Amino acid sequence: MATVVITGGAGFLGSHLCERFLKEDFEVWCLDNLCTGRISNIEHLCTYENFHFIKENVYNHILVPGEVDYILHFASPASPIDYLQMPIQTLKVGALGTHNALGLAKAKGARFLLASTSEVYGDPLIHPQTEEYWGNVNPIGPRGVYDEAKRFAEAITMAYHRAHGVSTGIVRIFNTYGPRMRIKDGRALPNFFRQALKGEDITVYGDGSQTRSFCFVSDLVEGIYRLLMSDENLPVNIGNPEEISLKDVAEEIRELTGTKSKIIYESLPVDDPKVRKPDTTRAREILGWSPKVPRAEGLKKTLEYFKKELGV
Ligand code: UDP
Repeated sequence: MATVVITGGAGFLGSHLCERFLKEDFEVWCLDNLCTGRISNIEHLCTYENFHFIKENVYNHILVPGEVDYILHFASPASPIDYLQMPIQTLKVGALGTHNALGLAKAKGARFLLASTSEVYGDPLIHPQTEEYWGNVNPIGPRGVYDEAKRFAEAITMAYHRAHGVSTGIVRIFNTYGPRMRIKDGRALPNFFRQALKGEDITVYGDGSQTRSFCFVSDLVEGIYRLLMSDENLPVNIGNPEEISLKDVAEEIRELTGTKSKIIYESLPVDDPKVRKPDTTRAREILGWSPKVPRAEGLKKTLEYFKKELGV
């Protein structure tokens, strides 16, 4: 039985990854300090004998007994609201946490995969974003704590690969949605669903012309799994290239929920990227991966989850 360590394993993405690796018969070590992760995301996994949960701050140290074959470093606040509220923790887990996770990979001879982000491209000046693009990031803006932590994390990951020969991979994750997002994580889709289901105004920031490209979580997990199992060490974008404006996605959720909520416009957060869409050529060519779940289907599944969470 191969062993995988997943930092941030009780989070939205981490918990789906834990589930996937248990299905593939891995021994799974889930590490999380629960600052944004939740026990409710993983309690259904605790019946597996090969699932272990450790509550710890991976930026202090990481201790896992025995052999480890794979490490996925997914610990970090990831919603703009969260990293604005926890700027120092975000920097620490991206920098010190990544260093610790890489140290563990080196000590155990494990393959390491870093959860990076489309945020490394900042407010991008090329569109769609290819992995060759170096980005347009404001280091001292409010989003800088996340963007620069992840850029540092990419740099130290490549350094461990080049200097120590550690097998490493970097996935640049674009906007992802699905069950287990926190209702109040502040991101667009949870806000829109919550507001629509409660009959509150739907808050679109700016004029809503900014775009994102939303990937359903099962597609993302498949891409991550394939990247981990490959020996690719350069960054790979994983995301759904179907781009939509925020105004249009708010309208889609309004229609899907049948709500009477109206859309209102509020001020755009500082440094909010105007466009975002992955070029997924590398994922297609290297991993044979492309997203399968159309937005209409993913939004329906996500609606069921939010209805249950809100008890409506
Ligand atoms: N947004 C919005 N209304 C909300 C929350 C977010 O219009 O209630 C916008 C936000 O300004 C951004 C986009 O939705 O342009 C996606 O924001 P999110 O926080 O989901 O993640 P980001 O892609 O910015 O990391």
